[in-house]
Amino acid sequence: MALIVHKYGGTSMGSTERIRNVAKRVAKWARAGHQMVVVPSAMSGETNRLLGLAKELSPAEQTAAMLRELDMIASTGEQVSVGLLALALQAEGMQSVSYSGWQVPVKTDSAFTKARIESIDDLRVRADLAAGKVVVITGFQGIDAEGHITTLGRGGSDTSAVAVAAAMKADECLIYTDVDGVYTTDPRVVPEARRLSTVSFEEMLEMASLGSKVLQIRSVEFAGKYRVPMRVLSSFTSWDIPIDEEAKSGTLITFEEDEKMEQAVVSGIAFNRDEAKVTVVGVPDKPGIAFQILGPVAEANIDVDVILQNVSHGGRTDFSFTVHRNDYQRTLDLLRNQVVPALGAAEVAGDPKICKVSIVGIGMRSHVGVASKMFGCLSEEGINIQMITTSEIKTSVVIDEKYMELAVRALHKAFDLDQAAA
Ligand code: ADP
Ligand code: ASP
Ligand code: MG
Repeated sequence: MALIVHKYGGTSMGSTERIRNVAKRVAKWARAGHQMVVVPSAMSGETNRLLGLAKELSPAEQTAAMLRELDMIASTGEQVSVGLLALALQAEGMQSVSYSGWQVPVKTDSAFTKARIESIDDLRVRADLAAGKVVVITGFQGIDAEGHITTLGRGGSDTSAVAVAAAMKADECLIYTDVDGVYTTDPRVVPEARRLSTVSFEEMLEMASLGSKVLQIRSVEFAGKYRVPMRVLSSFTSWDIPIDEEAKSGTLITFEEDEKMEQAVVSGIAFNRDEAKVTVVGVPDKPGIAFQILGPVAEANIDVDVILQNVSHGGRTDFSFTVHRNDYQRTLDLLRNQVVPALGAAEVAGDPKICKVSIVGIGMRSHVGVASKMFGCLSEEGINIQMITTSEIKTSVVIDEKYMELAVRALHKAFDLDQAAA
């Protein structure tokens, strides 16, 4: 008998029919003798719908008081899901009980809309499991020290599931979704993408942070910190396939370095359309400039990603960086009104239509020339690289958004990731 956590995403919970299928699958695992905790997301489209309603009633610039209400609203999607799933499980003849994050409780900090889980009380859940119940817990949410409901950021149910698995010392956390594992890149963009039977924790962390939405990055961080065995697999297989077969399907996140380093140099390609580029033009090239530009940006709680400063000509240079697209206008305004006058810079330019494409692989540590192969491939396609950033196991480029799919497809082929090449 094992303690297993299942997580079901929005599409997997997308209709009462699909919820019934989820219940049948979970019941199959419970009947095989496992203790089951299930963490579902809101039904697909529901979180967008709820946040859309909120948007109609709130201005663009949101205060902390407004963000609190957004979490109050968005968290209800998952509350509906857990109730429906517990009902469906009961209809399957299982004993089942659902809880919202605050009832467990899942304690978080107070950063509304992007809260971090601090602790999870396992007492109540353990008592239910001991009584033979399947426990269903909302994804995506928790409660802060003052009793306010918080949410964990988009895609946060993955993190809830892994955190619950860590707190319960579960034997495995299975992330059921609408694809049958982690692919070399998003299979919706590159149909030739290949499923990886394993992916190292480090590579998964990079891919998630660089835009692969298949797992929320914090879920991968949790899995690494607490060594939670974690697998990504499909909820669209027939619910009654044998458990042994199901338990080996999909993609396993591994924590040990395996012989992979010898196999593929690049394991995957990630991309992110959510960024925008800003450039402060004609900045005096002297000590303290980066701090004078990025200090006010950080104070305004705007996250900066790629940064580029050119060599100066005649004592002046340009300073570019990328921010989340949602923060684009705010960043431009702040630079124009505050930074440019203080620095005596010439002007501010911006481009919200950029994207970041990254190659990821632990094999990059032991191979040279990988980045230049990437640049060569993009140059053959006539794609101009605007910015570059590298780390030990990844290289990212910022390019015009309109070339994103072309770049991803060309790189996928150049690094022999296409299905045909396998
Ligand atoms: P869920 O609602 O189950 O959490 P998500 O939409 O958040 O599902 O994540 C699954 C989606 O992630 C897939 O449908 C796929 O389009 C996308 N995706 C992006 N990159 C990858 C990748 N490397 N491998 C698999 N899926 C990916
Ligand atoms: N329902 C939330 C969202 O849409 C959380 C999740 O699906 O993981 O972002
Ligand atoms: Mg998701």
